[in-house]
Amino acid sequence: MADKCTAEFNKPRDECGVFGIYGPGLDVATLTYYGLYALQHRGQESAGIAVSDGKKIHLHKGMGLVSDVFSHVKLSDFQGYIAAGHVRYSTTGTSNLLNAQPLVFRCSRGMIGLGHNGNLTNFNELRSQLFSTGSVFQSSTDSEVIVNLIARYSQGNLADAIVKTMIDIKGAYSLVIITEKSLIGVRDPHGFRPLCLGRKGEAYVLASESCALDTVGAEFIRDVEPGEIIIIDNKGLTSRKVLQGSKKARCIFEYVYLARPDSNMDGFNVNKVRREMGRQLAREYQVDADIVIPVPDSGKTAAWGFSLESGIAFEEGLMKNRYVGRTFIQPDQSARDLGVKLKLNPVREVLEGKRVVVVDDSIVRGTTSGKIVNMIRESGAKEVHFCLSSPPIIKSCYYGIDTSNKGELIAANKNVEEIRKFIGADGLRFLSLEGLLNVFGDSQDNFCTACFSGEYPVEIPDAAVNGKHILE
Ligand code: SF4
Repeated sequence: MADKCTAEFNKPRDECGVFGIYGPGLDVATLTYYGLYALQHRGQESAGIAVSDGKKIHLHKGMGLVSDVFSHVKLSDFQGYIAAGHVRYSTTGTSNLLNAQPLVFRCSRGMIGLGHNGNLTNFNELRSQLFSTGSVFQSSTDSEVIVNLIARYSQGNLADAIVKTMIDIKGAYSLVIITEKSLIGVRDPHGFRPLCLGRKGEAYVLASESCALDTVGAEFIRDVEPGEIIIIDNKGLTSRKVLQGSKKARCIFEYVYLARPDSNMDGFNVNKVRREMGRQLAREYQVDADIVIPVPDSGKTAAWGFSLESGIAFEEGLMKNRYVGRTFIQPDQSARDLGVKLKLNPVREVLEGKRVVVVDDSIVRGTTSGKIVNMIRESGAKEVHFCLSSPPIIKSCYYGIDTSNKGELIAANKNVEEIRKFIGADGLRFLSLEGLLNVFGDSQDNFCTACFSGEYPVEIPDAAVNGKHILE
């Protein structure tokens, strides 16, 4: 786990993206491929698609980007009318093919495939219980615990088994489940991770983010509600609600950085929310400066909002090399230094002699931010003010986002002034937690803010806090 954040510019990383379609008469495998393509930002380590023809589930999965995994696969060979897909970035379990999803298994109900986004907080305990009563595990993921529990509850129908499983498992999970004859979407009672429902003609589509619905030409119907199970089969769509009294705890970091700006989640457009974060930041940090520039691409919308609110001109002072993939490997410090330069290039003509406000979404370790400040200064900037559209990350996430462990989080170990000195900026400002929540108006009680506030909405077992939740 220790190196996970080095691979993508020291940014927190989402664990996974899920996609599913129930579409008789459609090429569901190809549509799922495009859906996963739209969700690629949620996971780049592995990808997989499971397709059912009504009798059997066919699966292909592999390590790498969606385009790599399916480059030699003829999708039209995947005949069927139901499909589930998954892209993965591991936060539990190692990065290997056994942990790639969908996980497809056979039980007394026939074949079932499952794709999971999120992290269970009690999976170590459940896994031990299942082990002691004879379960076997192939992978080291928490998702396989869900698979085992669903298989064990053999009384009643599949939805009954899922309800019982939801009562056992704790933490974050948005699931897409495929059986031989149905597609099922499940969202945990707190709604940590997103999941939405769409329609394409007669077909139903489930996806982590609405941008995937747009990509496959599906119309957004609504978000799957926290604690909801949606079952789609030849009788149409049915819904069941479970554990409805639970406190809502949607991940606020999805809006800060993780989700695509063109997605709508739980009533908020990500782009609009990010711009408001930038506006709020400008209200909180009034500074004399000549230009506002984003750290591309993650700081772009907030920088635009900062510029609109402050009246300071928006400029593109850092250019991003779009051909350096998210999987760029940075094995040692010197390669990492080079990595920043490969990815970002300062525009001297824009920066020289200017007092610059730089806007980014967050700081994890601070090393990349320091390199960016240095780069801007070396290009002739007179002052560099580093502004973040989120509060300091002071705690680790146990709900499916790799924020690094506490020892690596700069804001868990230094105060704001110490961080400012560390990154070498003339000014440093984080958006306040109150300011961040204000962006969401009356809905602000419905979010998880644990990595910023330390208030975990679902209890974290000591073993998890000590890093022992990671099974290798
Ligand atoms: Fe999201 Fe942070 Fe909560 Fe994790 S701890 S779910 S990253 S807000």
